[in-house]
Amino acid sequence: MAMTAGLIDSHAHLTTGFFGPRLPAVVQESLAELEAVLVIGAGGGVATAPAAVALAREHPRLYATVGLHPHDASLFTPALISQFRAMAREPAVVALGEMGLDYHYNRSPPSDQRAAFRAQLVLARELSIPLVLHIREAWADALEILRDELPLALGGVVHCFTGGPAEAEAALALGLHLGVSGIATYSHAGELREVFAAAPRERLVIETDSPYLSPAPHRRTRPNRPVMVRHVAAALAGWRGETLAEVARATTANARRLFALENPGAEREPHAAVEGRS
Ligand SMILES: [Zn+2]
Repeated sequence: MAMTAGLIDSHAHLTTGFFGPRLPAVVQESLAELEAVLVIGAGGGVATAPAAVALAREHPRLYATVGLHPHDASLFTPALISQFRAMAREPAVVALGEMGLDYHYNRSPPSDQRAAFRAQLVLARELSIPLVLHIREAWADALEILRDELPLALGGVVHCFTGGPAEAEAALALGLHLGVSGIATYSHAGELREVFAAAPRERLVIETDSPYLSPAPHRRTRPNRPVMVRHVAAALAGWRGETLAEVARATTANARRLFALENPGAEREPHAAVEGRS
């Protein structure tokens, strides 16, 4: 198979337990084909964050985020913020999240979601660390909270962006990036494709949201895997009338800048564990 050089999957859930014994193979395949993967330490409870940090520590081109997913907001405790603060000291941890609001499922009560979101934004400001945001059918409240709490210099990505032109404009005005996922490749997503076609190139990053959201034309391939991000990149290039190489170069540069990833293209030393932490 041809190498897809230079792509970064900015959003993959590798530590929710979903991949089970296949995880090492998925990691090896990702490292062989991609430049880097952000392993999202949120979703599926509170154990995914330390697991994401541990995985990223083992592999220099895997990076971790830590946070509490809005679905899990009812699990929020102040102690969790202390744990995120400690984990964020690890060199492998490059962002907080995914955090935000999801009123589509309301798996946690909206008031719990808002409280957990605000608490994590306060921590992000304290740590000066970028954000991975999850916003679904909650734009008015999310924008209000972000305008209150978001330090503009921090930056972040609205992962798996599914809003319309107005939401894109609002997110871009806050200095945020838009995450392009397989959702935009689905047949009903014409308006979303137009948003991504028109968005400033320097504000786009690509993602798989593995193991979910396999991109067309491989929607039936389950689970989704980080290497599938090349289909997102190819589709994005088509909508924008750009070459795959241009999209790869831009989205990789954007992810590197946003998350301050080290040593472009180079193999690095494994991330050292912070002393005194397991
Ligand atoms: Zn996610």
